[in-house]
Amino acid sequence: MLKDNLFDVEQRIQAACDRAGRDRSEVTLIAVSKTKPESDLQEIYDQGIRDFGENKVQELCRKIENMPKDIKWHMIGHLQRNKVKYIVDQVELIHSVDSFRLAEEINIQAKKKEIVVPILVEVNIAQEESKFGVSKEDAIELVKQIAALDGVQIKGLMTIAPYVVDSEENRGYFRKIKDLSVDIENENIDNVCMDIISMGMTGDFEVAIEEGSTMVRVGTGIFGERDYSNS
Ligand SMILES: *Cc1c(COP(=O)(O)O)cnc(C)c1O
Repeated sequence: MLKDNLFDVEQRIQAACDRAGRDRSEVTLIAVSKTKPESDLQEIYDQGIRDFGENKVQELCRKIENMPKDIKWHMIGHLQRNKVKYIVDQVELIHSVDSFRLAEEINIQAKKKEIVVPILVEVNIAQEESKFGVSKEDAIELVKQIAALDGVQIKGLMTIAPYVVDSEENRGYFRKIKDLSVDIENENIDNVCMDIISMGMTGDFEVAIEEGSTMVRVGTGIFGERDYSNS
């Protein structure tokens, strides 16, 4: 059943790539597995998916421990500074860096482990109070500040668009993020590249791909609705 969901999502990604004249290889599908049991992740893993997204450090660490070692784990949720040490050397990418203080802590932990940690800067493109992320106006300044830390490398931008019924409503936001990434790229800041744009979820990933997303984070579309009643 999860296999059918994945097949459907894959087909829709391919169709969006076709419409946008993009190659399928330009878009990474991240299976967002938060709250889901490891057996569900395994089912999707068995279909060849290797990128998984989680938003809670404890759950992420447990799954890293128990799941196959070739999985690339993406930290997509709000990250507290005191938990950075548990994940810096465990994840492929931290999508949710929205302050200099958090980047500084990642830098400290990276140096201890003698690694460079790839990160994205999270932008709150619709200025929603309920969401984390730096404003579009403050993004370039934050990127410049973080660029000075040599234990982290900025690889691009991430955004969570508003929850909408009609995904077309988010097209303008996705376009703004793409434009912002081009603006930042044009600043030619040392230690900064804009190769990755992480945007698009179950409700809007096709529009996001049409507007230049390189990573879509799909949870419900693959694993079904989440049940938070036990947590
Ligand atoms: C939960 C989550 C997703 C996936 O959301 P769906 O609508 O279930 O696809 C994507 N990104 C982030 C940051 C999330 O927390």
